[in-house]
Amino acid sequence: MHIDEPARRVPVIHETEVLVVGSGPGGLAAALAAARAGVQVTLLERFGCFGGNITAVGVEGFAWYRHEHTVDSEGLGIEFEQRAIAAGAAVEEPQSDSHAIDGEAFKWVADTLVTETGVTPMLHRLFVAPLMDGDRVAGAIVESKAGREAIRAKRVVDATGDGDVVHRAGAPTIKQAPEDMIGTSVMFSMSGVNKTRFIEQVKADPQTYRDWAYGQWTVETAGKEDEMFSPFLRKPFEQARASGLIPENLDTIAGTWGAIYDTGDLTYLNLVHLLGYDGTNPDHLTRGEMEGRQQAMMAIEALKRFMPGCEGAKLRNFGMTLGIRDTRKIDARYNMTEHDVREQGRFEDSIGIFPEFIDGYGILILPTTGRYFQLPYRTLLPKGVRHLICAGRITGGDRVSHAATRNMMCCTVTGQGAGVAAALAVKMDRDFDELPVADIQRELKRQAVRIH
Ligand SMILES: Cc1cc2nc3c(=O)[nH]c(=O)nc-3n(C[C@H](O)[C@H](O)[C@H](O)COP(=O)(O)OP(=O)(O)OC[C@H]3O[C@@H](n4cnc5c(N)ncnc54)[C@H](O)[C@@H]3O)c2cc1C
Repeated sequence: MHIDEPARRVPVIHETEVLVVGSGPGGLAAALAAARAGVQVTLLERFGCFGGNITAVGVEGFAWYRHEHTVDSEGLGIEFEQRAIAAGAAVEEPQSDSHAIDGEAFKWVADTLVTETGVTPMLHRLFVAPLMDGDRVAGAIVESKAGREAIRAKRVVDATGDGDVVHRAGAPTIKQAPEDMIGTSVMFSMSGVNKTRFIEQVKADPQTYRDWAYGQWTVETAGKEDEMFSPFLRKPFEQARASGLIPENLDTIAGTWGAIYDTGDLTYLNLVHLLGYDGTNPDHLTRGEMEGRQQAMMAIEALKRFMPGCEGAKLRNFGMTLGIRDTRKIDARYNMTEHDVREQGRFEDSIGIFPEFIDGYGILILPTTGRYFQLPYRTLLPKGVRHLICAGRITGGDRVSHAATRNMMCCTVTGQGAGVAAALAVKMDRDFDELPVADIQRELKRQAVRIH
């Protein structure tokens, strides 16, 4: 059954040179990079804060892969981490040479970055449709408490995580069947944890990355990860199942904790994994939110009973929204491959590097060796539409390449590349596929990005 909506007259409320849709690690980086390259930028976000999964979901492990010999990305991602540390919005991360970002305080850090850079902020507006001028994307239709409004833009960056703009503009995207997607999680944090007792227990029974393989989960490592410490929690949940506190068949509750504070906050609890949910289906999202919270409450009861230090703890907060890892990807001018991320891919049109860190689809490889790959500009470019570029976890590539490029630091690399390209496309009045790559690389280097 259908209804026909009558045509509507929509007010144009704003005009900008670059419109970035979505403000996660990809979109925030894109907006700042475009503004620093000297154009007017507007950053559009459906929620009440910038930061995407960092702030809206509470994904705090920004660079938990980093070890002594890691050759890391450079540019805005490092700046995010440094700014968070300087603002007291980060704490030492337990398994790596990095800091876990405080997802709550980063909301304010992101505000500060946006304000300082002169980006026009637009929170609480949902992108619903592109403005099209033939095959060119010329802005966006948004919906909010103010109704339906239009924003005109010379270039648009899709950083929605789900490829909303690309999809609505009719360009090809790829989405796996829900059962093949990386799982969905309700993230949460606890307060009232006795840090001393908790850490004593972690040290008394240290877990490693090999422990990630249990029940229905498998983990392929390079071998070197197997004996390395991981802040992993499984045994309290096994005890809870054995005692009847958690249903016997619910063997997916387990996972990592992110940071523990002297105040007793235990944050970024990545313990609930829901399989078969499609993050672009609102019915799945509804079920996922409710089922995820139910499982999180069971996990908390299990920790209180079976994890020393957690006896007097309680729920501090759930993430503002369900954590989605895997939905649409663009079918790009170049789709990255498993070979590229496993074998140090090198590209003439590189817009940045990312260490050999692969995490997803049952693979965990940590960049302990100094190996890294480059990201080609063409992986940001959708097919069949003009004036639109992509950033973050939607860039083109196969499954295993996404297990690397979906990581937040890598999303900042593609974000910064997309932002610089959008700015240059405005200034030179060119299509994205006509831009001289050398000019993009020059501006990225000026912005402290390592290209090769
Ligand atoms: C539970 C979980 C744990 C993870 N753990 C880690 C980890 O430890 N380390 C790591 O590096 N990565 C981790 N990831 C992956 C990482 O968080 C994501 O891949 C990354 O944040 C993607 O960045 P992004 O900018 O592409 O999208 P997102 O961070 O998803 O940001 C997209 C933004 O766009 C906004 N948006 C979406 N649609 C619209 C619309 N129509 N209109 C307006 N705004 C819109 C959203 O509200 C959001 O702010 C994890 C992910 C999850 C879900």
